[in-house]
Amino acid sequence: LYVEQGLGEGQTIPLTKEQAHYLFGVMRMAVDDPVLLFNGRDGEWRCVVTVANKRNGELLCEAQTKPLQMPPDLWLCFAPIKKARTDFIVEKAAEMGAARIVPVTTDFTNSERIRQDRLQAHAVEAAEQCGGTYVPEVAELTKLERLLADWPDGRQLMFCDEAEVGSAKRLAASEGGPWAILIGPEGGFSEAERAKLKVLPFAHVVSLGPRILRADTAAVAAMTLWQQALGD
Ligand code: SAM
Repeated sequence: LYVEQGLGEGQTIPLTKEQAHYLFGVMRMAVDDPVLLFNGRDGEWRCVVTVANKRNGELLCEAQTKPLQMPPDLWLCFAPIKKARTDFIVEKAAEMGAARIVPVTTDFTNSERIRQDRLQAHAVEAAEQCGGTYVPEVAELTKLERLLADWPDGRQLMFCDEAEVGSAKRLAASEGGPWAILIGPEGGFSEAERAKLKVLPFAHVVSLGPRILRADTAAVAAMTLWQQALGD
C-alpha cells in the first residue's frame, strides 16, 4: 500500500478514509494483521494494524522488508493521446521501471490537456501492483520545443519515428549515458519536428520495425528495446 508519510521503525501511520475503507472494508483486515507499505522514498516496510475502523485506522511500522530500489534513469516522453490510452502509457511506463514520465505537446498532439494528478495516481497504482518501491514522477505537460531547449547535458534521446527505416538494433551500438524515449502522437511528428530532432547531437532516430504502431504500443515496444539493449 502506498502512503505519503515517512516510514521508519516505530513510526505510526494514520490512514485516510479511503485507505481505511480499502484495508478494512475491501481487504477485510483487522487489528494485528500485517500490511506492506511504501512511499517511493524509504523502501518497503512491514507494518501492523493497530486501529481498524471503517473511516480511519492506524498502522505501526515494524521493520523494513526491501530497501528503496531505484529504477534505471530512463525518461519516457510522449505526446498524450486519448485518455484511456494515455493512462495505459503511464501505467506501463511505471511497471517497466521508467524513472520519469514526461507528457509533451507536439505539432500534432490531439490532447492539449492532461490531469497530472490522475496520471500520477496511475503511476502509484502501477508501482503498487508490481511490488516496486519507487514511484516515477509524472512531469507537467511541456512543449516539445521547451523540453529540447532545456535538455540536460549527457542525456541521450531515443527518437522513435515510423518514417525511419530499419530495425531498432542500431540502439545497442549507441553510446551509454542516461536515456529518454520520445513517442509521438497519433498523427506522428511534423516534418519540421523531424528535421529539428534529427540534427540534435543527443538524438538517435530509431525505427521500431516496419509496421506503424499505435503510440501506446510504440511506448511499450521502445521501453522493451531500451531495456534489452541498454537497461540494467
Ligand atoms: N504518423 C503516423 C500515421 O498517422 O501514419 C502514425 C504515428 S504513430 C501512431 C505514433 C507514434 O508512435 C509515432 O510518432 C512514433 O513515435 C511511434 N511509432 C509508431 N510506429 C513506429 C515505428 N514503426 N517505428 C518507430 N516509431 C514508431
